[in-house]
Amino acid sequence: MEQRLRSGLTALGLSPEGIPSLLRYGDLLVETNKVMNLTAITDPEEIASLHFLDSAALLTLEDFRGKSVIDVGTGAGFPGLPLRILEPTIRLTLLDSLGKRIQFLETVCQDLGLADVACVHGRAEEFAAEHREAFDLVTSRAVANLQTLSELCLPLTRVGGRFLAMKAVDSDGELASAQRAIALLGGRVAAVRDYAIPGTEVCHRLISIEKFKKTPEKYPRTFAKIKKNPL
Ligand code: SAM
Repeated sequence: MEQRLRSGLTALGLSPEGIPSLLRYGDLLVETNKVMNLTAITDPEEIASLHFLDSAALLTLEDFRGKSVIDVGTGAGFPGLPLRILEPTIRLTLLDSLGKRIQFLETVCQDLGLADVACVHGRAEEFAAEHREAFDLVTSRAVANLQTLSELCLPLTRVGGRFLAMKAVDSDGELASAQRAIALLGGRVAAVRDYAIPGTEVCHRLISIEKFKKTPEKYPRTFAKIKKNPL
């Protein structure tokens, strides 16, 4: 794993300083995954590529320095925690609706000495009530389709900030179906960029949505309503 991380971070033009923390995080992930469902990816080389380097690639596409960031539906911490390890000036909140995953992340943060990372057990649509438009950047990977995800994430994004959705390269149709929701929620697509995970054949996409005006107060609705009547 170490060699793959080293060459991958070099290819991305990122500092190798975070490697010891990523290795320890990887060990904790593999060990804990034996007793708790955290990830379907269990091979350390694949964890390095498909979790750590996939997350790290975002640092080459957006400026995260000094920003407040919330990772919605973070699961075992992706992409949020590798971003914070590699860019220590990020003020990070990790949010997930599954308490066990948040407990795991608390253990990892304690182990790595990341006392300033907030690990929050909650649903994005409820968390928005008290943290409305509070974050410079909102990240999310593999949580919901973009139409639904926009209602979870854009209310948390401050005006002038960005919602960064990690998607597959064949997400053109998904993006087209979400355009109305994005506009209603005060967003507009600023960039759609495909990137390669170094050392692999895998290509992913980052959809950057700029928040240019406030989200109407009636959003987000309850999850039942979001599901029943997507915007
Ligand atoms: N982002 C991680 C990744 O890419 O490895 C985890 C992806 S996992 C497939 C989806 C995660 O989103 C789950 O851990 C689930 O509990 C969480 N989730 C789903 N809906 C959510 C919501 N409304 N608010 C917060 N978390 C949510």
